[in-house]
Amino acid sequence: MKHSLLRRGFKKDAETWSIEIREKLGVEATGACPARCVADLHGVSVTPIQCLSGLAQNFLYDEFPDQQDIDKKMALLLNRNGEFSAVVAIVGGFKMILFNSDHSPARQESDIMHELAHIICEHPGDCLQLNADIALRQYNAQHEEEAKWLGATLQVPDQGLFTLARLGLANAAIADIYGASLEMVVFRRKTLGIDLRLSRLKKFIR
Ligand SMILES: [Zn+2]
Repeated sequence: MKHSLLRRGFKKDAETWSIEIREKLGVEATGACPARCVADLHGVSVTPIQCLSGLAQNFLYDEFPDQQDIDKKMALLLNRNGEFSAVVAIVGGFKMILFNSDHSPARQESDIMHELAHIICEHPGDCLQLNADIALRQYNAQHEEEAKWLGATLQVPDQGLFTLARLGLANAAIADIYGASLEMVVFRRKTLGIDLRLSRLKKFIR
């Protein structure tokens, strides 16, 4: 098994933060905690990267006469950014999350939550979340693992998932409730050992 970079107690803290944030937003552990609401709570604005490229395009139209050429180049740029997930941009102390609105709503949720997790953990520096083989500046494996775990916990908290699974809800129904992807629910259910705990509970009750 891969050695975990998470410090002892981090998973417990992540669960506590997930529940505390839900309490502030008036949401139960068994309910969705939309990433944009969490961002709001932390004074972070959330903007699609596509909006920025639209602005850049308009600016280029003003500067250069060949619009077709600009369109072609912008299309290439956006395509190259097809793997782009999200990034925290800090401008004059003001935090902003840029995300890729081409991804599914469930993927956007986890992308934005991941970046919020970096902010909540107060990880220094900017963090690019790219799936491409790009050498990232200031890449920190421990920070990435923390953000991955906390982001997932914010979306699907342990106690909420346990309760819903105990009620017999299917993974797809649970994914719907949390606005999460099916993969996310399967990942959480497996890594948290939900089914093992449920079967132990059943034995105990019997
Ligand atoms: Zn990251």
